Amino acid sequence: MNYFAGIDIGSTAIKVAVVDETGRLVGVHVTASGSLFHKNAKEALARLLTDLALSRDDVRYVIATGYGRKLFKEADDSISEITANAIGAHEAGKAFGGVRTIINIGGQDSKAIQIDANGHVVNFAMNDKCAAGTGRFLDVAARNLEIDLEELGDCHFNSQSAPLAINSTCTVFAESEIIGLLASGHDKAAIVAGIHYSIAKRTVRLAKRVGIEGRVYFDGGPALNKGLVAAIEDELQRQLVVPEHPQTTTAFGAAMLARSEHLVEQA
Ligand code: ADP
Repeated sequence: MNYFAGIDIGSTAIKVAVVDETGRLVGVHVTASGSLFHKNAKEALARLLTDLALSRDDVRYVIATGYGRKLFKEADDSISEITANAIGAHEAGKAFGGVRTIINIGGQDSKAIQIDANGHVVNFAMNDKCAAGTGRFLDVAARNLEIDLEELGDCHFNSQSAPLAINSTCTVFAESEIIGLLASGHDKAAIVAGIHYSIAKRTVRLAKRVGIEGRVYFDGGPALNKGLVAAIEDELQRQLVVPEHPQTTTAFGAAMLARSEHLVEQA
């Protein structure tokens, strides 16, 4: 059996996905990007192959994507994360009846992508200028609130009062605002819900810029946060499609493209 890998070297996390020649996802691995992108990316791929009991020779084609993709010289090819995300969401979205709009929130940016019925990018918008509305905002907030990142989602639903408005449009000022709310004795859960709504409002504004068509697929690490999912659904007034592995959709898209490029070369 031949295998194909996609490696998404993001600003915050490196994600690796391996598919087999039938296009089935056989494994994913996520690790922190750290400061040594190239070394960490090589180790992440090696680690997933070891876990899957595969050798490097079993992997016929590797495509790199993401912020640090140019650093990964071992890849056979590289593509933009917009294209890889579109392919990944299109493929994973089939199980949900197909998706036409993608919302991606990453560690330091957020994107909205509209795709056609074949998974081709029709339009996209990106916020990479400001940490507000990104995973970075959640990381900073979790630290200030002394809550594990993984617990923000559950905390959202424990709020006894309405979500507290976070008015600052800048992460640095929002951090001061959160500390101020804590110092005034406000409920942590209401602050968490307020943070999620603040990100949700920005995200929905971004998505409206590209136009919301069909089913909306939500991916990127913050899509693991169920409270944020609920806040975006509330602001959008529609349900989101959240896949089983939202953080690895872009790596999966790169792996699926690696598979099809290999098949074309063989033909
Ligand atoms: P990038 O591709 O830019 O590196 P990711 O899509 O990997 O970004 O997302 C990274 C972000 O995902 C982190 O900044 C963090 O906020 C969020 N995240 C990662 N794991 C979890 C988790 N288990 N629960 C909630 N949020 C998470």
